[in-house]
Amino acid sequence: MPNDPSNDIAIEIRDVSFAYSRSGGSPLPAIDRVSIQVRTGERLGILGPNGGGKSTLLKLMLGLIRPGAGSISICGRPPQDARRQQLVGYVAQRIEAELAFPISAREAVLMAIEIGASPWRRRTQDDRAFASDCLERVGALAFADRPVGTLSGGQIQRVMIARALGRRPRVLLMDEPTVGIDLSGQQRFGELVSRLHADLGLTIVIVSHDVRAIAAGCDRVACLSRTLHYHDSPAGLTPAVLGEVFKHDLAAVFGDVHLDAHMADQCSAPGHTHGPGHVHGPGCSHDHPGAEGGA
Ligand code: ADP
Ligand code: MG
Repeated sequence: MPNDPSNDIAIEIRDVSFAYSRSGGSPLPAIDRVSIQVRTGERLGILGPNGGGKSTLLKLMLGLIRPGAGSISICGRPPQDARRQQLVGYVAQRIEAELAFPISAREAVLMAIEIGASPWRRRTQDDRAFASDCLERVGALAFADRPVGTLSGGQIQRVMIARALGRRPRVLLMDEPTVGIDLSGQQRFGELVSRLHADLGLTIVIVSHDVRAIAAGCDRVACLSRTLHYHDSPAGLTPAVLGEVFKHDLAAVFGDVHLDAHMADQCSAPGHTHGPGHVHGPGCSHDHPGAEGGA
């Protein structure tokens, strides 16, 4: 139905919980009642600390694991069906050891294009042209015939994205895509994502613990630390929201300070100084010894 509003929703995550079972212990909740909606053609960034459940949420979207409660639909289908129908492209977190393979970037993309085809099927001219097209889209044509293992982190990442594009997906999921990439590489990555989004109309989900990787180039941001702390435009990502999401990381560095309200440069309370990372609560009286200066 062309006018069915559900056609506009690429990803619907409704009240999903997931816990990893532990031998001899109670299950470990990794995702707790999370609801996220991603519109078709939208770029969503999922930001959260290490261990916050980001990769688990991607595995749920890929149908590799099933929610303990709640439901997920990808392009109107269960995740397993969407994956089988190649509607979802996935760029996994980069693992150095796996990338030392001796095949060329072009071959890696051709292999992705041929997944599922009969082993007796001959590689066609169309396959080759499409592989070049995918490599060109990500700016990898210049090093397409070099072994993947000899490429830089940023170059390997482009090849991995080209591989995902080789499946002709409608939704592209990327796990920590900027890890191990320098600042200028991160900027080029942002430009690449914008270009893919504009040229192919892809729905894109990027998960990262890096605020910079998420804030630039995403239409909306979801902050995930087991539960969802925020799900809106990047403009609303205030220090208070970030303080709440990264609470445990910050507490490990700065001690258990008040982490949920105003920025230090908005603070007019006399008689105290703000150390780096010091963010107070709204009703804060400023007489909480040990919290000042990032104690
Ligand atoms: P993130 O990607 O945000 O770093 P993960 O989704 O990998 O977080 O992990 C969320 C939580 O689930 C963490 O506490 C992690 O230790 C745990 N976890 C992840 N994978 C497994 C697994 N295969 N078995 C048991 N626990 C896991
Ligand atoms: Mg992860």
